[in-house]
Amino acid sequence: MAKSKLNYEWHLKNKMPAKATIDQRIKWHLEHIKYCECREIPEKLVEEIKKKKNFH
Ligand SMILES: [Zn+2]
Repeated sequence: MAKSKLNYEWHLKNKMPAKATIDQRIKWHLEHIKYCECREIPEKLVEEIKKKKNFH
Protein backbone atom coordinates (compact mmCIF):
# COMPACT_ATOMS: atom_id res chain seq x y z
CA MET A 1 0.00 0.00 0.00
CA ALA A 2 1.31 3.42 -0.92
CA LYS A 3 1.86 5.74 1.97
CA SER A 4 0.14 9.09 1.56
CA LYS A 5 1.88 12.22 2.74
CA LEU A 6 -0.24 13.13 5.67
CA ASN A 7 0.56 16.37 7.45
CA TYR A 8 -0.56 15.24 10.86
CA GLU A 9 0.16 18.57 12.57
CA TRP A 10 -1.93 20.48 10.06
CA HIS A 11 -4.82 18.09 10.55
CA LEU A 12 -4.70 18.51 14.31
CA LYS A 13 -4.90 22.27 13.92
CA ASN A 14 -7.48 22.24 11.15
CA LYS A 15 -10.31 19.91 11.91
CA MET A 16 -13.28 19.84 9.59
CA PRO A 17 -16.42 20.90 11.50
CA ALA A 18 -18.87 18.02 11.95
CA LYS A 19 -21.65 19.92 10.18
CA ALA A 20 -19.51 21.81 7.69
CA THR A 21 -21.30 23.87 5.07
CA ILE A 22 -20.22 23.61 1.44
CA ASP A 23 -18.33 26.89 1.85
CA GLN A 24 -16.50 25.61 4.91
CA ARG A 25 -15.60 22.41 3.06
CA ILE A 26 -14.28 24.34 0.07
CA LYS A 27 -12.21 26.58 2.34
CA TRP A 28 -10.90 23.56 4.23
CA HIS A 29 -9.89 21.68 1.10
CA LEU A 30 -8.23 24.72 -0.50
CA GLU A 31 -6.10 25.15 2.62
CA HIS A 32 -5.58 21.43 2.97
CA ILE A 33 -4.16 21.00 -0.52
CA LYS A 34 -1.44 23.55 0.26
CA TYR A 35 -0.15 21.71 3.29
CA CYS A 36 -1.08 18.08 2.93
CA GLU A 37 -1.37 15.44 0.23
CA CYS A 38 -3.35 12.78 2.03
CA ARG A 39 -6.43 13.22 -0.16
CA GLU A 40 -7.65 15.11 -3.17
CA ILE A 41 -10.58 17.50 -3.37
CA PRO A 42 -13.75 15.48 -4.13
CA GLU A 43 -15.03 15.96 -7.67
CA LYS A 44 -18.32 17.46 -6.50
CA LEU A 45 -16.46 20.05 -4.48
CA VAL A 46 -14.18 20.90 -7.41
CA GLU A 47 -17.33 21.64 -9.42
CA GLU A 48 -18.62 23.92 -6.68
CA ILE A 49 -15.29 25.77 -6.60
CA LYS A 50 -15.43 26.27 -10.38
CA LYS A 51 -18.97 27.63 -10.12
CA LYS A 52 -17.90 30.10 -7.46
CA LYS A 53 -14.92 31.29 -9.46
CA ASN A 54 -17.25 32.17 -12.33
CA PHE A 55 -18.88 34.82 -10.14
CA HIS A 56 -15.73 36.91 -9.86
ZN1 LIG B 1 -4.50 15.70 4.76
